[in-house]
Amino acid sequence: MSNFETNAIRIQAERSGAKEHSAPIYLTSSYKFDDAEDMRALFANEREGNIYSRYSNPNTSELIEKMAVLEGSETGWATSTGMAAIFTTFAALLKSGDHVLSSRSIFGSTHQLLVNIFPKWGITSSYADLDKPEEWESLIQPNTKLIFVETPSNPGIDIIDLEWLAKLSKKHNALLVVDNCFATPYLQQPIKLGADLSIHSATKFIDGQGRTLGGLILGSNKLIGEIEAFARHSGPAMSPFNAWILSKSLETLAVRMDRHCESALKVAEFLEQNEEIELVKYPLLKSHPQYEIAKKQMKAGGGIVTFVVKGGYERASKFMDSLKMFSISANLGDTRSIATHPASSTHSKLTEEERLQVGISQGAIRVSIGLEHIADILHDIEQALEVSKLQIA
Ligand SMILES: *Cc1c(COP(=O)(O)O)cnc(C)c1O
Repeated sequence: MSNFETNAIRIQAERSGAKEHSAPIYLTSSYKFDDAEDMRALFANEREGNIYSRYSNPNTSELIEKMAVLEGSETGWATSTGMAAIFTTFAALLKSGDHVLSSRSIFGSTHQLLVNIFPKWGITSSYADLDKPEEWESLIQPNTKLIFVETPSNPGIDIIDLEWLAKLSKKHNALLVVDNCFATPYLQQPIKLGADLSIHSATKFIDGQGRTLGGLILGSNKLIGEIEAFARHSGPAMSPFNAWILSKSLETLAVRMDRHCESALKVAEFLEQNEEIELVKYPLLKSHPQYEIAKKQMKAGGGIVTFVVKGGYERASKFMDSLKMFSISANLGDTRSIATHPASSTHSKLTEEERLQVGISQGAIRVSIGLEHIADILHDIEQALEVSKLQIA
Protein backbone atom coordinates (compact mmCIF):
# COMPACT_ATOMS: atom_id res chain seq x y z
CA MET A 1 0.00 0.00 0.00
CA SER A 2 1.38 3.39 -0.81
CA ASN A 3 -1.24 6.12 -0.78
CA PHE A 4 -1.88 8.12 2.37
CA GLU A 5 -5.65 7.58 2.57
CA THR A 6 -5.36 3.83 1.98
CA ASN A 7 -2.66 3.39 4.62
CA ALA A 8 -4.65 5.46 7.11
CA ILE A 9 -7.59 3.07 6.66
CA ARG A 10 -6.12 -0.34 5.92
CA ILE A 11 -3.19 -0.73 8.32
CA GLN A 12 -4.68 -2.71 11.18
CA ALA A 13 -3.80 -4.43 14.42
CA GLU A 14 -3.90 -8.16 15.02
CA ARG A 15 -7.47 -9.48 15.13
CA SER A 16 -9.04 -11.50 17.93
CA GLY A 17 -10.18 -14.48 15.83
CA ALA A 18 -13.85 -13.43 15.83
CA LYS A 19 -13.37 -12.11 12.25
CA GLU A 20 -14.49 -8.63 13.31
CA HIS A 21 -14.16 -6.10 10.49
CA SER A 22 -13.56 -3.11 12.77
CA ALA A 23 -10.72 -3.24 15.30
CA PRO A 24 -11.78 -4.31 18.80
CA ILE A 25 -10.51 -2.50 21.92
CA TYR A 26 -7.96 -4.51 23.88
CA LEU A 27 -8.79 -3.45 27.43
CA THR A 28 -6.22 -5.56 29.18
CA SER A 29 -3.48 -4.43 31.52
CA SER A 30 -1.26 -7.46 30.93
CA TYR A 31 -0.75 -10.47 28.65
CA LYS A 32 -0.27 -14.21 29.14
CA PHE A 33 2.90 -16.06 28.23
CA ASP A 34 2.81 -19.50 26.62
CA ASP A 35 5.15 -20.86 29.26
CA ALA A 36 8.05 -19.86 31.50
CA GLU A 37 10.47 -19.89 28.56
CA ASP A 38 8.18 -17.57 26.54
CA MET A 39 8.11 -15.15 29.46
CA ARG A 40 11.90 -15.20 29.75
CA ALA A 41 12.39 -14.64 26.01
CA LEU A 42 9.95 -11.70 25.89
CA PHE A 43 11.59 -9.99 28.84
CA ALA A 44 15.02 -10.60 27.30
CA ASN A 45 13.82 -8.92 24.06
CA GLU A 46 14.60 -12.13 22.15
CA ARG A 47 11.01 -12.36 20.96
CA GLU A 48 8.46 -9.66 20.10
CA GLY A 49 5.15 -9.58 21.88
CA ASN A 50 3.00 -7.84 24.44
CA ILE A 51 4.02 -8.00 28.09
CA TYR A 52 2.20 -5.20 29.86
CA SER A 53 0.10 -2.30 28.56
CA ARG A 54 2.49 0.31 29.96
CA TYR A 55 4.88 -1.05 27.29
CA SER A 56 2.60 -1.98 24.39
CA ASN A 57 -0.96 -2.92 23.47
CA PRO A 58 -2.47 -3.96 20.10
CA ASN A 59 -4.42 -0.70 19.87
CA THR A 60 -1.43 1.55 20.54
CA SER A 61 0.70 -0.61 18.22
CA GLU A 62 -1.83 -0.16 15.39
CA LEU A 63 -1.89 3.61 15.91
CA ILE A 64 1.92 3.83 16.00
CA GLU A 65 2.35 1.65 12.92
CA LYS A 66 -0.11 3.74 10.94
CA MET A 67 1.39 7.04 12.04
CA ALA A 68 4.91 5.85 11.26
CA VAL A 69 3.86 4.97 7.70
CA LEU A 70 2.00 8.28 7.29
CA GLU A 71 4.99 10.31 8.54
CA GLY A 72 7.56 8.23 6.66
CA SER A 73 9.41 7.24 9.84
CA GLU A 74 10.76 3.84 10.95
CA THR A 75 8.70 3.66 14.11
CA GLY A 76 7.09 5.68 16.92
CA TRP A 77 5.80 5.86 20.47
CA ALA A 78 2.38 6.85 21.85
CA THR A 79 1.81 8.89 25.01
CA SER A 80 -1.17 9.99 27.09
CA THR A 81 -1.03 13.62 25.89
CA GLY A 82 0.88 15.84 23.49
CA MET A 83 2.76 17.38 26.42
CA ALA A 84 3.74 13.90 27.64
CA ALA A 85 5.23 13.31 24.17
CA ILE A 86 7.25 16.55 24.36
CA PHE A 87 8.33 16.02 27.98
CA THR A 88 9.28 12.38 27.34
CA THR A 89 11.35 13.32 24.28
CA PHE A 90 13.34 16.00 26.13
CA ALA A 91 13.74 13.92 29.30
CA ALA A 92 14.81 10.79 27.40
CA LEU A 93 17.33 12.45 25.07
CA LEU A 94 18.86 15.24 27.17
CA LYS A 95 21.06 15.32 30.24
CA SER A 96 22.28 17.96 32.67
CA GLY A 97 24.49 20.47 30.86
CA ASP A 98 22.69 20.17 27.52
CA HIS A 99 21.13 23.11 25.73
CA VAL A 100 17.99 23.35 23.57
CA LEU A 101 17.56 25.94 20.85
CA SER A 102 13.84 26.43 20.27
CA SER A 103 11.66 28.58 18.12
CA ARG A 104 10.29 31.37 20.33
CA SER A 105 6.75 30.90 19.15
CA ILE A 106 5.78 27.62 20.83
CA PHE A 107 2.87 26.08 22.70
CA GLY A 108 2.45 27.67 26.16
CA SER A 109 3.16 24.47 28.13
CA THR A 110 6.28 23.71 26.05
CA HIS A 111 7.51 27.19 26.99
CA GLN A 112 6.86 26.34 30.66
CA LEU A 113 8.90 23.13 30.36
CA LEU A 114 11.86 24.94 28.81
CA VAL A 115 11.80 27.99 31.06
CA ASN A 116 10.64 26.72 34.46
CA ILE A 117 11.06 22.94 34.64
CA PHE A 118 14.13 21.70 32.74
CA PRO A 119 16.50 24.34 34.22
CA LYS A 120 15.92 22.59 37.58
CA TRP A 121 17.76 19.62 36.08
CA GLY A 122 20.50 21.65 34.44
CA ILE A 123 19.03 21.70 30.93
CA THR A 124 18.99 25.20 29.51
CA SER A 125 17.41 26.71 26.42
CA SER A 126 17.28 29.80 24.29
CA TYR A 127 14.90 31.09 21.66
CA ALA A 128 15.24 32.00 18.01
CA ASP A 129 12.63 33.61 15.76
CA LEU A 130 11.07 31.66 12.90
CA ASP A 131 11.04 34.74 10.70
CA LYS A 132 14.77 35.43 11.26
CA PRO A 133 16.50 32.25 10.00
CA GLU A 134 19.75 34.21 9.53
CA GLU A 135 20.11 34.41 13.33
CA TRP A 136 19.76 30.69 14.09
CA GLU A 137 23.31 29.51 13.46
CA SER A 138 24.86 32.12 15.78
CA LEU A 139 22.50 30.99 18.58
CA ILE A 140 23.71 27.38 18.47
CA GLN A 141 26.06 26.66 21.40
CA PRO A 142 28.70 23.91 21.71
CA ASN A 143 26.30 22.06 24.08
CA THR A 144 23.20 22.49 21.88
CA LYS A 145 21.93 18.90 21.59
CA LEU A 146 18.43 19.53 20.32
CA ILE A 147 16.73 22.05 18.06
CA PHE A 148 12.99 22.28 18.65
CA VAL A 149 10.58 23.97 16.31
CA GLU A 150 6.85 24.43 15.77
CA THR A 151 5.92 25.19 12.17
CA PRO A 152 3.34 26.56 11.57
CA SER A 153 3.58 28.02 15.06
CA ASN A 154 0.82 28.40 17.60
CA PRO A 155 -0.77 30.91 17.45
CA GLY A 156 1.47 33.17 15.33
CA ILE A 157 1.34 30.91 12.22
CA ASP A 158 5.00 31.61 11.49
CA ILE A 159 6.87 29.14 9.27
CA ILE A 160 10.46 28.05 8.83
CA ASP A 161 12.14 26.05 6.06
CA LEU A 162 12.49 22.56 7.55
CA GLU A 163 14.89 21.25 4.91
CA TRP A 164 17.22 24.15 5.62
CA LEU A 165 16.91 23.74 9.39
CA ALA A 166 17.59 19.99 9.15
CA LYS A 167 20.86 20.71 7.32
CA LEU A 168 21.86 23.29 9.94
CA SER A 169 21.07 20.82 12.76
CA LYS A 170 23.14 18.06 11.14
CA LYS A 171 26.07 20.44 10.64
CA HIS A 172 26.10 21.11 14.40
CA ASN A 173 25.34 17.53 15.50
CA ALA A 174 22.03 18.54 17.04
CA LEU A 175 18.77 16.62 16.74
CA LEU A 176 15.93 18.40 14.95
CA VAL A 177 12.58 17.83 16.66
CA VAL A 178 9.43 19.24 15.04
CA ASP A 179 6.06 19.76 16.74
CA ASN A 180 3.92 18.84 13.71
CA CYS A 181 0.60 19.31 15.49
CA PHE A 182 -0.85 22.08 13.31
CA ALA A 183 -0.01 20.42 10.00
CA THR A 184 -0.59 16.69 10.71
CA PRO A 185 1.26 14.16 8.51
CA TYR A 186 -1.32 14.80 5.79
CA LEU A 187 -0.01 18.32 5.18
CA GLN A 188 3.64 18.09 6.21
CA GLN A 189 6.13 15.25 6.80
CA PRO A 190 9.12 16.69 8.70
CA ILE A 191 11.09 13.42 8.76
CA LYS A 192 11.05 13.27 4.96
CA LEU A 193 12.47 16.81 5.02
CA GLY A 194 15.35 15.72 7.28
CA ALA A 195 14.02 16.12 10.84
CA ASP A 196 14.95 13.47 13.43
CA LEU A 197 11.63 13.37 15.28
CA SER A 198 8.10 14.53 14.54
CA ILE A 199 5.83 15.06 17.55
CA HIS A 200 2.06 15.40 17.72
CA SER A 201 -0.60 16.40 20.10
CA ALA A 202 -3.09 13.83 18.74
CA THR A 203 -5.68 15.70 20.81
CA LYS A 204 -6.03 18.18 17.97
CA PHE A 205 -6.62 17.30 14.29
CA ILE A 206 -5.73 13.62 14.64
CA ASP A 207 -8.70 13.01 16.94
CA GLY A 208 -10.40 15.85 15.14
CA GLN A 209 -13.62 15.57 17.09
CA GLY A 210 -12.65 17.02 20.46
CA ARG A 211 -13.00 13.79 22.42
CA THR A 212 -9.67 12.60 23.68
CA LEU A 213 -6.09 13.50 24.62
CA GLY A 214 -3.08 11.80 23.08
CA GLY A 215 0.49 12.27 21.95
CA LEU A 216 2.77 10.65 19.36
CA ILE A 217 6.50 10.68 18.68
CA LEU A 218 7.76 9.42 15.30
CA GLY A 219 11.36 8.73 14.32
CA SER A 220 14.15 6.22 13.81
CA ASN A 221 14.42 2.87 15.60
CA LYS A 222 17.48 4.20 17.41
CA LEU A 223 15.93 7.39 18.82
CA ILE A 224 12.54 5.84 19.55
CA GLY A 225 14.44 3.02 21.30
CA GLU A 226 15.99 5.58 23.65
CA ILE A 227 12.59 7.17 24.21
CA GLU A 228 11.00 3.78 24.83
CA ALA A 229 13.66 2.90 27.41
CA PHE A 230 12.71 6.04 29.33
CA ALA A 231 8.93 5.83 28.79
CA ARG A 232 8.55 2.18 29.78
CA HIS A 233 9.70 3.05 33.29
CA SER A 234 8.36 6.58 33.69
CA GLY A 235 4.87 5.59 32.52
CA PRO A 236 3.31 8.19 30.17
CA ALA A 237 1.46 5.43 28.26
CA MET A 238 -1.58 6.06 26.05
CA SER A 239 -4.68 4.12 27.06
CA PRO A 240 -5.92 1.41 24.63
CA PHE A 241 -9.29 3.13 24.45
CA ASN A 242 -7.75 6.43 23.34
CA ALA A 243 -5.50 4.62 20.86
CA TRP A 244 -8.57 2.92 19.40
CA ILE A 245 -10.35 6.28 18.99
CA LEU A 246 -7.27 7.88 17.42
CA SER A 247 -6.65 5.03 15.00
CA LYS A 248 -10.29 5.25 13.86
CA SER A 249 -9.87 9.01 13.51
CA LEU A 250 -6.90 8.58 11.17
CA GLU A 251 -9.23 6.82 8.73
CA THR A 252 -10.92 10.18 8.06
CA LEU A 253 -7.93 12.51 8.54
CA ALA A 254 -7.43 13.24 4.83
CA VAL A 255 -11.06 14.11 4.05
CA ARG A 256 -11.35 16.18 7.21
CA MET A 257 -8.12 18.09 6.57
CA ASP A 258 -9.14 18.83 2.98
CA ARG A 259 -12.30 20.55 4.24
CA HIS A 260 -10.58 22.28 7.19
CA CYS A 261 -8.02 23.74 4.77
CA GLU A 262 -10.53 24.75 2.10
CA SER A 263 -12.72 26.59 4.61
CA ALA A 264 -9.81 28.15 6.54
CA LEU A 265 -8.41 29.64 3.31
CA LYS A 266 -11.83 31.16 2.57
CA VAL A 267 -11.99 32.63 6.09
CA ALA A 268 -8.45 34.04 5.75
CA GLU A 269 -9.30 35.62 2.38
CA PHE A 270 -12.53 37.06 3.79
CA LEU A 271 -10.73 38.57 6.80
CA GLU A 272 -8.00 40.04 4.62
CA GLN A 273 -10.64 42.07 2.72
CA ASN A 274 -12.33 43.30 5.91
CA GLU A 275 -11.62 46.84 7.14
CA GLU A 276 -11.98 45.88 10.80
CA ILE A 277 -8.94 43.57 10.64
CA GLU A 278 -5.36 44.80 11.17
CA LEU A 279 -3.55 41.61 10.23
CA VAL A 280 -4.32 38.05 9.07
CA LYS A 281 -1.86 35.17 9.28
CA TYR A 282 -2.52 32.04 7.21
CA PRO A 283 0.21 30.02 5.46
CA LEU A 284 -1.36 30.14 2.01
CA LEU A 285 -2.18 33.84 1.89
CA LYS A 286 0.20 35.55 -0.53
CA SER A 287 0.69 38.25 2.12
CA HIS A 288 2.23 35.69 4.52
CA PRO A 289 5.96 36.52 4.84
CA GLN A 290 6.91 32.84 4.41
CA TYR A 291 4.31 32.02 1.73
CA GLU A 292 6.88 30.47 -0.63
CA ILE A 293 8.23 28.16 2.10
CA ALA A 294 4.70 27.17 3.09
CA LYS A 295 3.90 26.26 -0.51
CA LYS A 296 7.09 24.21 -0.77
CA GLN A 297 6.72 22.16 2.41
CA MET A 298 2.97 21.99 3.07
CA LYS A 299 0.29 20.32 0.98
CA ALA A 300 -2.25 22.96 2.12
CA GLY A 301 -2.46 25.70 4.74
CA GLY A 302 -4.13 23.91 7.66
CA GLY A 303 -7.22 24.70 9.70
CA ILE A 304 -5.99 27.56 11.89
CA VAL A 305 -6.22 31.28 11.10
CA THR A 306 -4.89 33.97 13.45
CA PHE A 307 -5.96 37.59 13.02
CA VAL A 308 -5.77 40.90 14.84
CA VAL A 309 -8.98 42.88 15.15
CA LYS A 310 -8.90 46.68 15.42
CA GLY A 311 -9.59 47.98 18.95
CA GLY A 312 -7.38 45.82 21.19
CA TYR A 313 -8.65 43.68 24.06
CA GLU A 314 -12.03 45.41 24.36
CA ARG A 315 -12.89 44.73 20.74
CA ALA A 316 -11.46 41.22 20.76
CA SER A 317 -13.47 40.21 23.82
CA LYS A 318 -16.66 41.80 22.45
CA PHE A 319 -16.06 39.99 19.14
CA MET A 320 -15.74 36.67 20.96
CA ASP A 321 -18.90 37.35 23.02
CA SER A 322 -20.83 38.22 19.83
CA LEU A 323 -20.10 34.91 18.13
CA LYS A 324 -23.29 32.84 17.95
CA MET A 325 -22.02 29.55 16.53
CA PHE A 326 -18.26 29.43 17.26
CA SER A 327 -17.34 27.93 20.63
CA ILE A 328 -15.03 29.83 22.95
CA SER A 329 -12.53 27.14 23.91
CA ALA A 330 -8.80 26.59 24.31
CA ASN A 331 -8.84 23.53 22.04
CA LEU A 332 -8.35 23.40 18.28
CA GLY A 333 -8.67 20.89 15.48
CA ASP A 334 -12.31 20.01 16.14
CA THR A 335 -15.33 19.52 13.86
CA ARG A 336 -16.75 22.59 15.66
CA SER A 337 -15.28 25.99 14.90
CA ILE A 338 -13.52 27.49 17.91
CA ALA A 339 -12.32 30.99 18.81
CA THR A 340 -9.56 31.63 21.36
CA HIS A 341 -7.99 34.81 22.71
CA PRO A 342 -4.37 33.64 23.19
CA ALA A 343 -3.19 36.64 25.27
CA SER A 344 -5.65 35.91 28.08
CA SER A 345 -5.70 32.10 27.84
CA THR A 346 -3.12 29.74 26.29
CA HIS A 347 -0.36 32.37 26.40
CA SER A 348 -1.41 34.26 29.55
CA LYS A 349 1.67 32.99 31.46
CA LEU A 350 3.98 34.93 29.13
CA THR A 351 4.85 38.53 29.92
CA GLU A 352 3.33 41.18 27.62
CA GLU A 353 6.80 41.69 26.12
CA GLU A 354 7.24 37.95 25.46
CA ARG A 355 3.80 37.86 23.84
CA LEU A 356 4.51 40.77 21.54
CA GLN A 357 7.76 39.11 20.44
CA VAL A 358 5.68 36.24 19.05
CA GLY A 359 2.99 38.47 17.60
CA ILE A 360 0.27 37.95 20.22
CA SER A 361 -1.22 41.39 20.77
CA GLN A 362 -4.35 42.02 22.85
CA GLY A 363 -6.43 42.16 19.65
CA ALA A 364 -5.21 38.77 18.38
CA ILE A 365 -7.75 35.99 17.94
CA ARG A 366 -7.02 32.43 16.87
CA VAL A 367 -9.78 30.55 15.10
CA SER A 368 -9.83 26.83 14.44
CA ILE A 369 -12.07 26.39 11.44
CA GLY A 370 -14.41 23.43 11.85
CA LEU A 371 -16.42 21.34 9.43
CA GLU A 372 -19.69 23.29 9.58
CA HIS A 373 -20.96 24.77 6.29
CA ILE A 374 -18.62 27.55 5.12
CA ALA A 375 -21.53 30.01 4.69
CA ASP A 376 -22.45 29.63 8.37
CA ILE A 377 -18.82 30.01 9.46
CA LEU A 378 -18.36 33.21 7.43
CA HIS A 379 -21.73 34.59 8.52
CA ASP A 380 -20.90 34.14 12.21
CA ILE A 381 -17.55 35.94 11.88
CA GLU A 382 -19.09 38.76 9.83
CA GLN A 383 -21.98 39.41 12.22
CA ALA A 384 -19.65 39.31 15.28
CA LEU A 385 -17.39 41.90 13.64
CA GLU A 386 -20.42 44.14 13.00
CA VAL A 387 -21.95 43.77 16.48
CA SER A 388 -18.63 44.31 18.28
CA LYS A 389 -17.93 47.40 16.16
CA LEU A 390 -21.21 49.02 17.27
CA GLN A 391 -20.55 48.06 20.90
CA ILE A 392 -17.24 49.88 21.16
CA ALA A 393 -18.22 52.83 18.94
C1 LIG B 1 -2.15 21.27 22.18
C2 LIG B 1 -0.74 21.35 21.75
C3 LIG B 1 0.25 20.68 22.47
C4 LIG B 1 -0.01 19.91 23.73
O1 LIG B 1 -0.84 18.80 23.54
P1 LIG B 1 -1.80 18.18 24.67
O2 LIG B 1 -2.40 17.00 24.01
O3 LIG B 1 -2.80 19.24 25.06
O4 LIG B 1 -0.94 17.82 25.84
C5 LIG B 1 1.55 20.78 21.98
N1 LIG B 1 1.84 21.48 20.89
C6 LIG B 1 0.90 22.14 20.18
C7 LIG B 1 1.29 22.90 18.97
C8 LIG B 1 -0.44 22.10 20.60
O5 LIG B 1 -1.36 22.77 19.91
